[in-house]
Amino acid sequence: MKLVRLIANLGYGSRKEVTQLFREGRVTDPTGEVLYADDKLDHADIRIDGEMLDPPNGLVLLMHKPTGYTCSRKDAGRLVYDLLPPRWRRRDPALSTVGRLDRDTSGLLLLTDDGALLHRIISPKANVAKVYEATLARDLQGSEGELFASGTLMLESETTPLAPAQLQVLEPRRARLTVTEGRYHQVRRMFAAVGNHVEALERVAIGRLTLDGLAPGEWRALDAAETAKAF
Ligand code: URA
Repeated sequence: MKLVRLIANLGYGSRKEVTQLFREGRVTDPTGEVLYADDKLDHADIRIDGEMLDPPNGLVLLMHKPTGYTCSRKDAGRLVYDLLPPRWRRRDPALSTVGRLDRDTSGLLLLTDDGALLHRIISPKANVAKVYEATLARDLQGSEGELFASGTLMLESETTPLAPAQLQVLEPRRARLTVTEGRYHQVRRMFAAVGNHVEALERVAIGRLTLDGLAPGEWRALDAAETAKAF
């Protein structure tokens, strides 16, 4: 791919704006040699104003989503994309969230520009475990685990029962729930179906990935080896 396109796709500007960067001699190789728009070079060997380029396409980010942010691209409020460098909003292909967390849910959120990977993770066939910790309004009764594991629980307005899910009681009003599906408001609706109410919800793991010390609002890029063994 010609450099002008590669750099524009990373969000540094329109082709015209990026062409201007070349004219100004701001695009160089690691030794400082000026590059031209039509050159072809490895991503790792390109500098703009002496800085390495943003990560190449095929990006997978692990974010600790704070509450109060939506996974939508154009909601009126705060968006998870606002937590990333502004230039990344213009990347092509665009970064998308892998599934969604509700605005009031915090925790592990993946974002990627790799459509095939995204579909592989969210496909029900993939059976990727998603682990949530819920704080509840009422004490657990003791019978919820069996019902959730039975594969017979039917949520309101759905036509197929939920796949079996595992409940681990942590405290009378706190539980860890592992599900393999990603139905709309699934965890909140599961607890509503047993007469409870979720007051706070956090996703603590997807597959083998955990938040591992990331504070709310922080994120990091996964390397290829981590992604390969995560799901
Ligand atoms: N289940 C929910 O109810 N909300 C989420 O954000 C994720 C799973």
